[in-house]
Amino acid sequence: SLHFDVEKIRADFPILKRKVNDKPLVYFDNAATSQTPQQVIDVIVDYYSRYNANIHRGVHALSQEATDAYEQARIKIQKHFNIPNAYQTLFTSGTTHGINMVASGFASILEAGDEVIVSALEHHSNIVPWQMLCEKTGAQLKVIPMLENGTLDMQAFDRLLSEKTKLVFVNHVSNALGTVNPIEELISKTHNVGGAVLVDGAQAAPHIKADLQALDVDFYVVSAHKMCGPTGVGMLYGKEEWLTKLPPYQGGGEMIDQVTFEKTTYAGLPHKFEAGTPNICGGIAFGAALDYMNAIGFDQIAEYEHELLEYATSRLKAIDGLRIYGDIPNKTAVISFNIKGVHPYDMGTILDKLGIAVRTGHHCAQPIMDFYKIPGTVRASFAFYNTKDEIDTLIAGVERARNMLV
Ligand code: PMP
Repeated sequence: SLHFDVEKIRADFPILKRKVNDKPLVYFDNAATSQTPQQVIDVIVDYYSRYNANIHRGVHALSQEATDAYEQARIKIQKHFNIPNAYQTLFTSGTTHGINMVASGFASILEAGDEVIVSALEHHSNIVPWQMLCEKTGAQLKVIPMLENGTLDMQAFDRLLSEKTKLVFVNHVSNALGTVNPIEELISKTHNVGGAVLVDGAQAAPHIKADLQALDVDFYVVSAHKMCGPTGVGMLYGKEEWLTKLPPYQGGGEMIDQVTFEKTTYAGLPHKFEAGTPNICGGIAFGAALDYMNAIGFDQIAEYEHELLEYATSRLKAIDGLRIYGDIPNKTAVISFNIKGVHPYDMGTILDKLGIAVRTGHHCAQPIMDFYKIPGTVRASFAFYNTKDEIDTLIAGVERARNMLV
C-alpha cells in the first residue's frame, strides 16, 4: 500500500522491539489478543497518575474527571459502532461477559418448546452460555452446520428457522478460520420469523467497522483487547426494546434506583446492567484505542491486512502438504493451517524457538476441529502492524519445521 507507512505505525508499539529466544519477535497471534500502542499505554498511565477515582458517586474533582473520561469513552464507542444512544452502549468485561449477560436475561423470556440457533463456527463462549440457558428453560438448541470450505450451510439454516425460533447467535468472523459470516442475511431472515440475533463481533471489530443500526442487529458484543485496547473491558450493544425488557444481570451498587429491604427498584440504562465498580481505566483506554485505529482508518487497515493475507496465503500454499482451512475470499487476516504428518503443537513449538508467536490448538472452537477430524490447527493471525518481511520469516520457519518433522 502506497499510503500505509507500516514502519511509522510499528514505532508506536514498544513490544514489537522485543526479542524472543534471541530473535526479533514476530507476533502473529493477534486474533488471541492484539498489541497496545504507546498512545493507549500513555492514557492508562495518565489515568493512574492523575485522576484515579471511583465514578458516578463523588462530588470531588477527581471523581468527576474520571466520570467524564469514562462517559466520553462510552460516546466514542457509541459513535464508532453507530449506536443510536450512549445508554445502549454497555461496558462489559469482554465478549464472554456480554454474551452471558444476554443469555442469562433470556432465561426469563424463553419457554420450553422455544428454539434457539447457534452456528457450527462458534467460539465456546458463544456456545456454552446458551447450552446453560437451554438447560434452565427447556428451550432447544439447533445448530447451523458448516461446509468443507469453512462457510455456513445457509440452506440448512433456512430449514432450521421457524416461528419457534426466538434467538440466533453467530459470530461475525470466525476466530478459528477468519471466515466472514453472512450476518446481514442471518439477521433479516431471523427477523422475518420474529426472532432476535446476537452477533459476536470479537474477531470482526479489529478489522471491520460495523454499523450496528444499518445491520439492524439486536445485540452485538466485542472485546477491547482484540483492537489495541486493554484486557478486561468490552462492549455490549442492545436494541432499546431488548435492554428494557431484559432483567438486570447482577445486583449491586450503581445499578439501583432505591434500595429498601421490602423492595429495590432498578436504575435506568445503562446503569441497570453496570453493577459495581467497573474497569474505569480500561473503558477510557478502550476509547483511546478506537481513536488510535480510527486515525489510521479502518479502510486502510483492511486494505493493508488483505495484502498481507494474500501474500501469506499464496506463499503458504506453495509448501508441500500444507492445507489451509477456510480458504475463501471473504475473510479477515487469519490463516489456519496444518501440514500433513505434523502435529500443530510441534509446529508451534519450533516457531516459538524462532521468535514467531502463533496459536496452536482448537482455538476454543472444538466443533470446527471435530468437523475436520483434526486435533487443532496452527493459526497465524495478522494485524496492521505486521509486515511482509515477518511473513517471510514465518514461511522460512514453517519450511524448517516441516523438514525437521516430516
Ligand atoms: N468470541 C470470539 C469469536 C473470540 O475470538 C473470542 C476471543 N478469543 C471470544 C468470543 C471471547 O472473548 P473474550 O475472551 O475477550 O471474552
